[in-house]
Amino acid sequence: MRKVLLLGASGSIGTQSLDIIERHKDRFLLTGFSLGQRVQYVPEVLRRFPSVHYLCVSNASDAENLRKTYPNLEIYHGDEGLVSTIERCPCDMVINALVGFAGLVPSVTSLRLNKILCLANKESLVVGGSIINGLLASGKGKLWPIDSEHVAIAKLLSCIKRENLSRILITASGGSFRNKSREELSHVTREDALAHPTWSMGAKITIDSATMMNKGFEIIEADVLFGIGVDRVTPLMHDESYVHSLIELKDGTLLADVSKPDMHGPIEYALMEGEVPFEPVKGQCLEDFAPYHFHAFNPDRYPAVPLALSSHKKGGNSNAILNASNEIAVYAFLEKRLPFLQIEEEVRYALNTLPWMENPTLEDLIRTDALTRDAVKRHIGG
Ligand code: NAD
Ligand code: MG
Repeated sequence: MRKVLLLGASGSIGTQSLDIIERHKDRFLLTGFSLGQRVQYVPEVLRRFPSVHYLCVSNASDAENLRKTYPNLEIYHGDEGLVSTIERCPCDMVINALVGFAGLVPSVTSLRLNKILCLANKESLVVGGSIINGLLASGKGKLWPIDSEHVAIAKLLSCIKRENLSRILITASGGSFRNKSREELSHVTREDALAHPTWSMGAKITIDSATMMNKGFEIIEADVLFGIGVDRVTPLMHDESYVHSLIELKDGTLLADVSKPDMHGPIEYALMEGEVPFEPVKGQCLEDFAPYHFHAFNPDRYPAVPLALSSHKKGGNSNAILNASNEIAVYAFLEKRLPFLQIEEEVRYALNTLPWMENPTLEDLIRTDALTRDAVKRHIGG
């Protein structure tokens, strides 16, 4: 039995993780969870999972009210509360389904405490990849990614001898604006951007998919997880999101992972720690998903990808600048304070302006994140 703490329970990955925990009741016991401001969701989670005794929410006032309603629960709040919850809640496994930089310290804390970390929060890996890999090498913690492409790649790599690998082809749907030219992007709205053609996800990652910053992040994520180097990860446009990624062997053979676009599968694979549950999904035949369309990736159409990769190659605290500026710009776009095409301009501005440093500690990354947020907010104005 694995005792599980779920961070970000009210989100897209969080709610689907609850489904998987419920599906495998014999294997998982939910002992705690966190969510941000959607506290109206707390009673439902507690009804479904009476084993929960630890809870964390964003606001102090919400925590205070919840303590009155649930005197038997240990309830925390805010960023520090997330750390306390990981420290106090009896758990073997932490699912990090938080969005953004807020997920980094919880990831690091989980690994410092030698937990099994099921990680959807890719921003942790983008910003703190070296620190996370250091903790994995020196401690007893484990990491299972929750991202459809990386679960696909992990599965495919487990089928081959590593020395036969030539490169990874990471698929990309192209997001909500894939049929628009750069010129047509200047007037797109928040509502247009949130209508993703193949996946239903949280708002931030849906915008990251439209700019393709998400694919830049995922190539970095692949390097951190599989140590392959970003030059051996090639993005490949694929309209239907059925082929989750491919690997190419040295003799040119391509191996692909094909299934419906549904995050329950990757979440289940991570929570089962790479064990594939023997329950073939009915009606999944290759022809059901056909036809498949693939196109070459055009970096001029999606400049966020080369921007992300050059940041990663620069190293140091550069990815913290990349991530923080992107977060501030994405939320400004969602609040209708910034045009869509300006998102990547704000990232470029931050990468060119903020001070670079080699070998940052966690505290340096936190400082870089805060400095970048302030600088980009000032630059956007309003
Ligand atoms: P979401 O916005 O739907 O959910 C985020 C969760 O985190 C919510 O529970 C929210 O309350 C909580 N949260 C947000 N900010 C917080 C803060 N500052 N402090 C505490 N809690 C906070 O996001 P999502 O789409 O589920 O994505 C979560 C992560 O998973 C992201 O890093 C995303 O890139 C990654 N991911 C998502 C998908 C997907 O299909 N949604 C797929 C692959 C990877
Ligand atoms: Mg993905």
